[in-house]
Amino acid sequence: MPWLTQLADVARRTGFEVVEEPGWRTRGHGEMYPIQGVVCHHTAGWNDLHVVRDGRPGLDGPLSQFWLSRRAKIHVVAAGKSWQNAPSTSRHHQNSNSIGIEAENDGKTPWPADQLRAFKALSAELCNEFGLTASRVCGHKEVNTSKVDPHSLNMHQFRVDVAHLMTNPANGVDDMPPPKDLWQYELKVPYGDQENPTWQAGNILANHGTWLRKISGQLDAARIREESQTAVIRELATALGNAGGVDVDAFLARIEQALDRVTVQVSISPEPEE
Ligand SMILES: [Zn+2]
Repeated sequence: MPWLTQLADVARRTGFEVVEEPGWRTRGHGEMYPIQGVVCHHTAGWNDLHVVRDGRPGLDGPLSQFWLSRRAKIHVVAAGKSWQNAPSTSRHHQNSNSIGIEAENDGKTPWPADQLRAFKALSAELCNEFGLTASRVCGHKEVNTSKVDPHSLNMHQFRVDVAHLMTNPANGVDDMPPPKDLWQYELKVPYGDQENPTWQAGNILANHGTWLRKISGQLDAARIREESQTAVIRELATALGNAGGVDVDAFLARIEQALDRVTVQVSISPEPEE
């Protein structure tokens, strides 16, 4: 996967207007490794396509493969490696194996609805093209400890929306949003939504109910087993005491000490089973 010369075609699949910046097919700091992620940015300025394309003092362009204007036009800037995220805290979001989308915004102005739609649609088409789940779409602020962009966007909700836009929503997000987001956003989706079988709030809650019942059953079984084992130990200790020569209380105390050192492991599968 050397130079990503398909990026303009991928962008056009969003239905948003695409501008191919002259020379984009050969622009980049070398070829790419297989694509594993998408990084979403804000540019911290306005009318700054030239910065993303040509760079700034101390950092040569391109700084990203895409520049997304506030009017929701997708500009294809580069087909090669771009200096968009280093040092990355994620192995899937390095300069060499991830695609950057720099969205025009000064870092505080609210996002225009169309630009936000294009941002998500482009992320979804990139996931479709490179076989990624929506979970691989990250904000710069999530994969680089010194960054705050893209400002004010809840990236969990962003990924849920990206998953909805993907050709195959079953490839959706494989990370579960925090409970707050589940309640705030997912519950708006009615049970039985045909377009979005993986992300129905009703299904999520039903799955969790099943899972909780299963855990509860496993814990009950573990408790019953522990109680019966304790009873057997007491019975054996008493039998030894009756046989003579054994201090039953001291013996039980030693067994209890030994049991305190035992780590009990309960194995619970991480996902509800269908
Ligand atoms: Zn950034």
